[in-house]
Amino acid sequence: MTALSPQARTRALDTMGDGRELDVVVVGGGVVGAGAALDAVTRGLTVGLLEARDWASGTSSRSSKLIHGGLRYLEMLDFALVREALRERGLLLQRLAPHLVRPVAFLYPLKHHAWERVYAGAGVMLYDTLSLSSGSARGLPRHRHLTRRGALRAAPGLRKDSLIGALRYYDAQVDDARFTEFLVRTAASYGAHVASRAAVTGFVREGDRIAGVRVLDEEGGREIEVRARQVINATGVWTDDTQALVGERGQFHVRASKGIHLVVPRDRIRSTTGLILRTETSVLFVIPWGRHWIIGTTDTDWRLDKAHPAATRKDIDYLLEHVNRVLVTPVTREDVQGVYAGLRPLLSGESELTSKLSREHVVGSPSPGLVVVAGASSPRIG
Ligand SMILES: Cc1cc2nc3c(=O)[nH]c(=O)nc-3n(C[C@H](O)[C@H](O)[C@H](O)COP(=O)(O)OP(=O)(O)OC[C@H]3O[C@@H](n4cnc5c(N)ncnc54)[C@H](O)[C@@H]3O)c2cc1C
Repeated sequence: MTALSPQARTRALDTMGDGRELDVVVVGGGVVGAGAALDAVTRGLTVGLLEARDWASGTSSRSSKLIHGGLRYLEMLDFALVREALRERGLLLQRLAPHLVRPVAFLYPLKHHAWERVYAGAGVMLYDTLSLSSGSARGLPRHRHLTRRGALRAAPGLRKDSLIGALRYYDAQVDDARFTEFLVRTAASYGAHVASRAAVTGFVREGDRIAGVRVLDEEGGREIEVRARQVINATGVWTDDTQALVGERGQFHVRASKGIHLVVPRDRIRSTTGLILRTETSVLFVIPWGRHWIIGTTDTDWRLDKAHPAATRKDIDYLLEHVNRVLVTPVTREDVQGVYAGLRPLLSGESELTSKLSREHVVGSPSPGLVVVAGASSPRIG
C-alpha cells in the first residue's frame, strides 16, 4: 500500500500542476471525495484528490462510526434507502473492508407491554429480512427478543423500571477517519495523485466550461493550477463556500446540522452490548468503542466556524439527561473524558427542522465540467 508521505504529497502536487489534463479532479478529502477518487481511478481514469486540511478532518472523523441501514428510516417507510444501506453494510463487512468494519450488538429497551414489542419487533424483523434479501446478512446474528431478565443480564447497568423487555439486533461499526484514509491510500496505490493541505481557492474557466481548479499548497505556499476534464466538488458542509468560488448561483444549498458525542470510560456503564434509546425526536446511541462508550448524538443548527464545531453545555446536558433516564448509576460530567462535534451536510430548504431534512445525497452538474455531490449525510446516520 502506498504511503501518504510528505514526499509523495510533493510529487502529487508537482504532477498535478505540470500542465497535464487529468480526467477527474476531486475537491474534498472526506469519505465522499475519497470514495469518488477511488471509484474513478479503479475505472482507469487519471485522478487528482485535493484536501484543504487533513484527510477526514471534516465530518468524516466525527460521526457515530456506524455502518448501518438506519433502522429509524423504516419508520419513515423509506425501504429503498434502508435496503441500499444494508447492502453496502454487507459489502463492507464481507468484501471491501472486513479488517475495519465489525459487527456491533444493540439492545433496544421496550417500555410498553404488547404493542411496542409487536411494533418494534416487526421493525427489526423487517431490518433483518431486508438485509437477508440484499444478500448481505452473512456474519451478523439475527435479532432476538429478550425478557426483562434477559435484557438485564446483557445490560445490568439498566434500571429495572426502565424496561419491560428488549430487542437485541446487530449492526456494524468502523473507525470513520481510518476508513477514509484507507480509501485515499488505496486510490493512491492505483495511481491517483493525492494531496492534503492543498486548498482549492478558485476554478479555472474556459468559456462556459470549468476546466480545472486553482490550488494553494498550504505547506509550501505555492499556487498551482490543476487542469481536469471533470471537477467533482465533494466538500460536504463547505459546498456553498466552494460553489461560491465558481461564481454562479448553486442549484441547491447545504446547511450544517451539528451532532455531538460524549466519550466515557467503559466501566461507567455496565453493559455487554450497545444501546439504542428513543428520544422525543430521534434516537440516542450508546456505542462500545474500545475501552470507552460513545454516547450520541444531538441535532441542532450550526452557523459558526465550520472547521471548529463545538459542543455547548446544553448539548452535553441533553445527552447526559437522556442516557441517565435508563441507568442505575448516572453518568456525570466528571465521567466524560472527551467530547467531539461534527456537522452533517444537509440539503436545505426542505424543512426547518434539521432532523427532518433529507439524509440522502444529491449529485448535480451546475456547469459543464463540474459535478457537485451535496448532502451526502448518509442513510446510515444515527
Ligand atoms: C454527528 C454525526 C454522526 C454521524 N453518524 C454517522 C454514522 O454513524 N454512520 C454514517 O455512515 N454516517 C454518519 N454521519 C454522516 C457522515 O459522517 C457524513 O455523511 C460524511 O462524513 C460526509 O462526508 P463528506 O466527505 O461529504 O464531508 P467531509 O468529511 O466534511 O469532507 C469534506 C472535506 O472537504 C474539505 N474542503 C472544504 N473546502 C475545501 C477546499 N476549498 N479545498 C479542498 N478541500 C476542501 C474539508 O476540509 C473536508 O475534509 C454522521 C455525521 C454526523 C455529523
